[in-house]
Amino acid sequence: MRFDVVTIFPAMVQQALGAGILGRAIERRTLNVVVHDLRDFTTDRHRVVDDVPYGGGPGMVLKPEPLFRALDAIEAADESSPTVLLTSPQGTLLTQAVVERLARQPRLVLLCGRYEGVDERVRSRVDEEISIGDYVLSGGELPSLVIVDAVARMVPGVVGDEQSVAEDSFGRGLLDYPHYTRPAEIGSRRSGTVLKVPDVLLSGNHAEIRRWRKREALARTLARRPELLEQATLDEEEQGLLRDLKAQRD
Ligand code: SAH
Repeated sequence: MRFDVVTIFPAMVQQALGAGILGRAIERRTLNVVVHDLRDFTTDRHRVVDDVPYGGGPGMVLKPEPLFRALDAIEAADESSPTVLLTSPQGTLLTQAVVERLARQPRLVLLCGRYEGVDERVRSRVDEEISIGDYVLSGGELPSLVIVDAVARMVPGVVGDEQSVAEDSFGRGLLDYPHYTRPAEIGSRRSGTVLKVPDVLLSGNHAEIRRWRKREALARTLARRPELLEQATLDEEEQGLLRDLKAQRD
């Protein structure tokens, strides 16, 4: 899968892409992420990308021409036409369902706004605006990285273990079960007690472990995000466990 990110801070984006799962997928060429400096698409000596807003008021606005030129170049770089996304707090809220939909595209372009945002006419070249949450950030670089990371995890071969992606929170509409690693016991200064790994996980009984994990995932979802259960796809065992959990709660 190919991503093109257009930004005035290419180093910020490039730096974050080097680490971990994403960095490895890029190295292996499972992912191709091309970061473009918006200033490379200016034509003036000072490489100006912003200007004052028509009508007055505070702040600056990203000029349309450099963004249009960047999009022309990116679209010409490959015969398949890419899906163009604009990061914006006014966009579609990013959820795992949206992530999965975006992951079906072969090419995504991400435009990073800055200042007050981009000239409204840029939206004529945009397929969808995406927001990563109901808060305002100072630029689209972090949202673009969030989108690239979440979408890339869905691309086969990026995360080593496909099963782990399927079991992640939201994978099947449920929150993930709790995870433990060694040691089996650890002292807690805060509570003055010994914190233990649940016995079932040490039992070696795989059927019991599987059932415990299902139950924990359901219990957490019921306690923290009950509305997710309305959309979740549950097998028969899970439906039974959920009935028990609800009965215990009531
Ligand atoms: N004046 C704009 C906000 C500009 S913030 C408004 O109120 O709609 C500057 C840039 O940061 C935006 O153009 C966008 O690219 C990015 N941004 C800020 N918050 C974001 C969010 N929650 N999701 C996605 N992008 C965001």
